[in-house]
Amino acid sequence: MRAALLTVTDVSRTFGEREALRTVDLEIAAGERVALLGPNGSGKSTLLRIACGRDRPTTGSVEFDGEPMSEDDARVRARVAVVGDALSCYPDLTVRQHLELVATAHGVPVREIDRLLREQRLTDHADSLPGALSSGQLQAMLLASALLRPRDLLVLDEPEQRLDPGARARLADVLRAEGDNGIAVLFATHHRELARAAHRVILLEDGAVVADGSPDEVFTEAGA
Ligand code: ADP
Ligand code: MG
Repeated sequence: MRAALLTVTDVSRTFGEREALRTVDLEIAAGERVALLGPNGSGKSTLLRIACGRDRPTTGSVEFDGEPMSEDDARVRARVAVVGDALSCYPDLTVRQHLELVATAHGVPVREIDRLLREQRLTDHADSLPGALSSGQLQAMLLASALLRPRDLLVLDEPEQRLDPGARARLADVLRAEGDNGIAVLFATHHRELARAAHRVILLEDGAVVADGSPDEVFTEAGA
């Protein structure tokens, strides 16, 4: 068995009285794609934030490549790319300028930018400000930013949310390519077709894992 890149052990997270996550365990190897499914409020975003070091668990631990996971650790930030559930951007920077910032911060040649703009169908919007973009185009810009930078783990929170069907299908291909390139992918989704791009589907309900297996196994059990 391959050693895990990400190991989540006995993780729980409470907010006041609310148990958002109850003792979740999760291991992801390099190149493995894992989809988190579950109703709104089932704990997907909470688990993703903890898995990428943006939040700390109430109990339990998270390790990335054998070391404690924390976004305060520059080594972690250099290897973990995240697109969260908010459309965060600089209102006064164009799409290309956002990508140039990311390229500069991560030491990526700016010539890579044009390829990602094409892949995300943003070439015609390269000089647009975020205010002139649709929410789907903003989401595509954030995806392009994550795919531009080096990464061993890609974490995405409902990346399909604002995408049209064509962009969603391209996203499934992108996720498969990530895994094929040895990058581990952990993503939350409501979309079963996108979840089928994963090797493994984990179903959360009320903060607990209720199913964990291949897409076929989980969707058959869930009556789909
Ligand atoms: P999902 O992403 O599956 O919709 P979340 O992880 O966002 O679910 O939320 C799980 C539960 O934790 C919900 O009941 C939510 O209200 C609660 N929760 C999440 N974040 C916070 C927070 N910062 N403060 C208080 N409660 C929170
Ligand atoms: Mg969420």
